[in-house]
Amino acid sequence: MRKRSQLIMLLGAIICICAAAVFSEEPAAKPVSAGMVSTAFERPLLIIDAGHGGADGGCVSVDGTPEKGINLSILQTMRDAAAIMGYDVVCTRESDVSIHDEGITGLSKQKKSDMDNRLAIINKYEGAVAVSIHQNQFTDQKYSGAQMFYPKASEESHALAEALRGRVVSTLQSTNERETKPVGDELFLLNNAKCPIVMAECGFLSNEGEAARLESPVYQKQMALTLLFGVNDYIFSK
Ligand SMILES: [Zn+2]
Repeated sequence: MRKRSQLIMLLGAIICICAAAVFSEEPAAKPVSAGMVSTAFERPLLIIDAGHGGADGGCVSVDGTPEKGINLSILQTMRDAAAIMGYDVVCTRESDVSIHDEGITGLSKQKKSDMDNRLAIINKYEGAVAVSIHQNQFTDQKYSGAQMFYPKASEESHALAEALRGRVVSTLQSTNERETKPVGDELFLLNNAKCPIVMAECGFLSNEGEAARLESPVYQKQMALTLLFGVNDYIFSK
């Protein structure tokens, strides 16, 4: 784990330059050659899940934008930045698709197959850390703010959730008081994953102001890097 931390520290400088560009909206820093990465280091494995996709749009914002595209955009930035930092990265989907088995008809059966296949991807690897990206929705439009959910039986997932929450508060939402929350048995993916996993509800699409931010490509990048820094914090703590 020490070598893993050294690798992340070494490459952390690179991502900080990229993050500074994203958060300040200044032009991106000059690219750094990937040739400086030593293969002698053990690379941490990050699995990223973008919720929904294809016919399943997830929840819908006040202006009619489905959650699935926001989730995917955040995943894409997280994926690319994590790769620069030296992570091995696996994604459950990288386009607007449901990953159900071929030949399955009917939305509910496709959804079940899709979830089974997401879980199979997550549980295929040893020693991974997983983040499932979603957006929230509530009938009362006044609620806003990101919140992290974790499987109640997993202390490591709880620690990961706290690390992500810490970064959200320190980087993006200083007044966010939403505590991390354990989920019940109803959340199939979280409760059956073998690795530390968090469902990141990045914000409420039912809140006009937050929906506008979440639909902004700049804010999507900020959220992606915030979540990634949270993953870093968790791995550093090992
Ligand atoms: Zn969702």
